[in-house]
Amino acid sequence: MGEATPPLKENKMKTSIQKGHCQVCGSVQRIHNNGTNKIFNHGFTRSGGFGYWTSAPCWGSSHQALEISCDIVEDTIARAYDIIEKIEVRVTAQEEEKLRLELEAEEALFIAEEEQIKLKEENKKLEKELDELLKEESTDENNNEDSADPVPNNIHS
Ligand SMILES: [Zn+2]
Repeated sequence: MGEATPPLKENKMKTSIQKGHCQVCGSVQRIHNNGTNKIFNHGFTRSGGFGYWTSAPCWGSSHQALEISCDIVEDTIARAYDIIEKIEVRVTAQEEEKLRLELEAEEALFIAEEEQIKLKEENKKLEKELDELLKEESTDENNNEDSADPVPNNIHS
């Protein structure tokens, strides 16, 4: 991002030596010296050395400097309140979603723990059954030891 090329600035900007404050962002910018006192396009540079915005310039571009007019200041304040409201709605929605997910996770954990207890009991029961089967088998083996003839006696009769 740091190596991005800056957007083309207006050519006449270099010929202007007058400056004024932007009504929207409050930065000091050059103003047109053609009698309109409008601020040149600006707002492409991101703060913190993060390169340049590729599209929209500051909303205060092409409006008169604050020293000349305050005609869009009220709009700017209203816009800021509008943005605050939108952000608050988003934050509330995110908090609700977070709460919902936490409840869902808690419920899932509860169900998993219940299931685990059930499985442990089942496992115990099966182990007991297996023990009994093994016991039975070993007594069967002991009882059948003598009669365990691979060829039954009555096979040829
Ligand atoms: Zn501005």
